[in-house]
Amino acid sequence: MKALWDNALDRIRAQVSGENFSTYFEPLRFARVDGDAVCLTVDDPFFRDWVIEHYREVLEGAMSAVAGRAMSLQLDVAEAPSAPVLELPLPTRAAPVDEPEAFPLNPHYLFDQFVVGPNNEMAHAASRAVAERPARSFNPLFIYGGTGLGKTHLLHAIAHRIKAADPSKRIVYISAEEFTNQVIKSIARQTMDDFRRRFRARCDVLLMDDVHILSGKERTQEEFFHTFNALHGAQKQIVLTSDKTPQEIQHLEERLRSRFNWGLITDIKPPQFETRVAIVQRRAEREGIPLSDEVTFYLARLVSANVRELEGALTRLMAYASFNREPVTIDFAKRALKDILDQRARAVTIDSIQRMVAEHFDVKVADLRGNRRLRTITHPRSIAMYLCRKHTQASFPSIGKGFGGKDHSTVISACKRVEQSLADDQTLRTEIESIERRFSS
Ligand code: ADP
Ligand code: MG
Repeated sequence: MKALWDNALDRIRAQVSGENFSTYFEPLRFARVDGDAVCLTVDDPFFRDWVIEHYREVLEGAMSAVAGRAMSLQLDVAEAPSAPVLELPLPTRAAPVDEPEAFPLNPHYLFDQFVVGPNNEMAHAASRAVAERPARSFNPLFIYGGTGLGKTHLLHAIAHRIKAADPSKRIVYISAEEFTNQVIKSIARQTMDDFRRRFRARCDVLLMDDVHILSGKERTQEEFFHTFNALHGAQKQIVLTSDKTPQEIQHLEERLRSRFNWGLITDIKPPQFETRVAIVQRRAEREGIPLSDEVTFYLARLVSANVRELEGALTRLMAYASFNREPVTIDFAKRALKDILDQRARAVTIDSIQRMVAEHFDVKVADLRGNRRLRTITHPRSIAMYLCRKHTQASFPSIGKGFGGKDHSTVISACKRVEQSLADDQTLRTEIESIERRFSS
């Protein structure tokens, strides 16, 4: 009977990306077959709901195909596994709650204020799960994505929610940069013991923002490694954000990288048009400023890179409107945002794309512009051409010119090739996404 499940898994492995497979399917455990139902178990109710909502069809399809008859999925939450609880003599409730709030939280960064779309659905759901059941869902939760996409917002929302449910919980929100500064200060002042108490013993939830900046900071990484172990071992929740996946962070100790992979890794992508519209509407409502649909759509179409820019544009518009006492018409919006437009047109150019692609693949810009036919060069070159087409207003001939005077047909076929491969090449997608994340930073 288990063979049925193993075979079904093999089919699914061929259908979904490797990342999805290891995140959603590997944790499922076969329990038994009960008539037409295949019963599986999983440790976490959040996980169960997520899998049922998103992968029921995939699972039932694969199981039915293997069994040769219609099978249905029954997914249960396993009895709480008796995880070894490390009893630490921690003064929880009696702890002085009067410690000054060293890391003030933004009062607007709440779950209620966070607009959920396909781009951030998983990160949002996982953050909520962690906030509702700290250290009982995923530990650590690792959220990555480009700048201005809501990572810090989610971290603060988790903090607000946990505090609201239990004010005695000691939550430490800190950026990796600030953590680094504190390590340095503590070494200089020889107050490392205080530092350790603060982050290891007097902390119930650690929310660390932008861990990618730990790259190359060996002493801080070591300190963080021990902090991580102490907290994780004592079943304290850890949530991390980063602009890269753990694999992509360079100069990171292997033991930290592997710990980042222990829990759930989830990404936030740039929002699609509909989500951007919803964000503008939500924000305009909060500020009590009526915006016509026309202007809302205009904004959402104009600014697509990230939410911070979108909010920036909106704020700008509001400031102009109140200053000039003019109603916000579409023409007014175009005038008010003109220099944002100009500025943006300048920011992403053929040159800057070539530089970023060259950096990413560790090749020379001159090679991208040249004619060498080595695959290690033609591959980045095609990607660079594709990105120029996607992110600048340049025509095929002028892109060709920017690449050392190549014919427009060369550019067209490079773009086509990349587009076609994108459909089923997950590695290529990841590569391109990671280069695009550089644009907005
Ligand atoms: P990051 O930490 O990923 O760079 P932030 O969390 O600072 O991004 O978000 C930038 C701004 O965009 C913040 O003002 C945040 O409130 C807002 N924002 C981002 N995503 C959303 C969203 N899905 N819904 C509402 N506001 C959002
Ligand atoms: Mg941030």
